[in-house]
Amino acid sequence: MFELKSLSHRYPAGQELAFPDWTLAQGEHAVLVGPSGSGKTTLLSIVGGMLSPSQGQAIVAGQDIAQLSAGTLDRFRGQTIGLVPQRLHLIASLTVAENLQLAQYLARLPQDASRISAVLDRLGLAELAKRRPHQLSGGQAQRVAIARAVVNQPKLLLADEPTANLDDAATEAVIALLEREAAVVGASLLIASHDGRVKGRFARHLALSQSCPAQVAA
Ligand code: ADP
Ligand code: MG
Repeated sequence: MFELKSLSHRYPAGQELAFPDWTLAQGEHAVLVGPSGSGKTTLLSIVGGMLSPSQGQAIVAGQDIAQLSAGTLDRFRGQTIGLVPQRLHLIASLTVAENLQLAQYLARLPQDASRISAVLDRLGLAELAKRRPHQLSGGQAQRVAIARAVVNQPKLLLADEPTANLDDAATEAVIALLEREAAVVGASLLIASHDGRVKGRFARHLALSQSCPAQVAA
């Protein structure tokens, strides 16, 4: 589902972050681990098409994403990648259902209210469709962010530290939900986390280390 080739990134005035040549197969699930600052969010941003790497290639669903023009990239990202960001970035002025509609719109997909209802139903959010983000609990808001990430049936589902600040039961529930939703749409799943509870749930670990990222194997 993705393939990294000699990928590295350097922020202005920052140190170079080099990433191993990892691949993730269609439908495969893995956890991206590494200490804070090792580049987990940076890698998700590159693979998610939100950050252009300084060097190397990130090939997602067969497409070198750096080769896409801005407009094509928006559509590709919206249709191919589902991201649950660390800060959820739900639009405060829109209802839950409208936040999902916006994801369809940004991906240039036809408005599909029945798809939105089906996803909200499956995530136990049907009753909350008309609420705005400030009327949701933290756990509910996170489920809405997951619903938004899967509404377009992505090929790759990315989640950035989805269990920060959650207790054990909520952590278990969120990971189970991400795994189930990825399986329902046949997506590959990559969860960035430095949470030992999450790490233990996955057989495949992609490990970054702060000191020498390029040397670490999968
Ligand atoms: P992680 O998610 O593993 O904590 P990040 O990808 O957020 O790591 O950060 C990796 C490194 O890049 C850190 O040293 C961080 O300070 C730096 N960094 C992250 N984002 C930016 C940015 N927008 N501008 C400059 N440096 C950044
Ligand atoms: Mg991070």
